[in-house]
Amino acid sequence: MPISEDELKALRRSLIERLAVLRDLQDSTAEGRKPVELDQTSVGRLSRVDAMQRQAMALEVERRRGEERLRLEAALQRMDAGDFSYCIGCGEEIARGRLDVDPTAPTCIRCASAKPR
Ligand SMILES: [Zn+2]
Repeated sequence: MPISEDELKALRRSLIERLAVLRDLQDSTAEGRKPVELDQTSVGRLSRVDAMQRQAMALEVERRRGEERLRLEAALQRMDAGDFSYCIGCGEEIARGRLDVDPTAPTCIRCASAKPR
């Protein structure tokens, strides 16, 4: 069953909300991604290693957030263009169940499994 106008509107709102949450998270966690101070005197080696590991984790989380943001923004653009729910690979309609699981999925299951992501 294709997505109705109302469903599309609701979905659009939820994508925009998620995007706002991600933006807030990106802003509020910026401090944790700053390069670790390499001042030998202020912190011991172990706590420096610890700080660097925490920073690496923060960067990884941020990278994933950035990817999700791009997917959300792309999905919203497809909605604006009227292309939402159509595969960007083959143009076929994306299965409803797939969009229910991930509304930002840009391709149908066939195209998604045809090339590694
Ligand atoms: Zn496809």
